[in-house]
Amino acid sequence: MSNLFRTLGRIFAAVLLPLPAAAEPPLQLPTANTNIYAPGAEDHYYVGTVGRPWMSGTFGCVRTDGWQLHEGIDIRAEQRDKKGEPIDPVRAIADGVVLYVNGKAGLSNYGNYVILGHERDGVEYCSLYAHLREVGEGIRSGARIRKGDQLGVLGRTSNTRSGISKERAHLHLEVALFLNKRFPEWYAKRIPGARNDHGMFNGQNLAGFDPTELLRSQQRQGAPFNLVKFIQSQPELCRVQVRETDFGFLRRYRALVEKNPLAEQSPTAGYEIVFSHVGTPMKLIPRTAAELKSKARVHLLSVNEAVQREHRCRKLVTQKNGRWELATAGQNLVDLLVY
Ligand SMILES: [Zn+2]
Repeated sequence: MSNLFRTLGRIFAAVLLPLPAAAEPPLQLPTANTNIYAPGAEDHYYVGTVGRPWMSGTFGCVRTDGWQLHEGIDIRAEQRDKKGEPIDPVRAIADGVVLYVNGKAGLSNYGNYVILGHERDGVEYCSLYAHLREVGEGIRSGARIRKGDQLGVLGRTSNTRSGISKERAHLHLEVALFLNKRFPEWYAKRIPGARNDHGMFNGQNLAGFDPTELLRSQQRQGAPFNLVKFIQSQPELCRVQVRETDFGFLRRYRALVEKNPLAEQSPTAGYEIVFSHVGTPMKLIPRTAAELKSKARVHLLSVNEAVQREHRCRKLVTQKNGRWELATAGQNLVDLLVY
């Protein structure tokens, strides 16, 4: 009898309780090195720049005394062959598709690298794996990839003159959004004649977030982890208003658009774009004509001075005669975003 009640109870629970939305699977670490999750083991996870501590291998304004942005994290090799060269397999952090492979190490300071495209919680994002010793066979544009598939071998390829020493061999991992699929067109117009070997996969077209934060948050939160919430939880650097109502980024990242009841009653005349500490657009808010603060096509609305002080390397905003304005890098970023 009690078994019957238990079974009935289960059936009722299944019918009456709202089922949780299918949970997105957790991400996987890109190498066998798991020290990212071990407090105090940072030294075993990140590779600093020459002569610098591990912090210089993390994400953000960690280079050149805080004046240079490191767009990813540098993950330490753990496995070596007899010659001391790294042999760690590099694996996909999530299911996805190969978007781009650079197999000509001499064409980039990233050396051999692979970019995968993913989708999570309605957001298209990409992961980038750089300095690979070699790219796996079958890893070419368009190939479908399962989480954990091997993409190549960790290495130290790069076209920089100084190169990367055996000891500093690492995986440079980035996680980012694409600013504009029409990047090559924008770039050619902006700098006529300039070389762009990597099309829309040019680093300038990627707007990243901290892979450490991403990996740790989803590990800590488990199933409730949500990529939109994660993106929107980054520190806010500034807000910019644009008198544009239709641009590629907006169409692609509907999930980042915040509801505005006023803009549901009157036509949208522009958007307020919220930028993270490193210039990643993290929220878009539709604005009606009455809400717009300026007639200009692009208008800087606000700057979070504490965040700007702490993350000054992106140089998006600058102060002139006591007033904040978009610096050249900020103007370029907004221009590319709405192009
Ligand atoms: Zn790096």
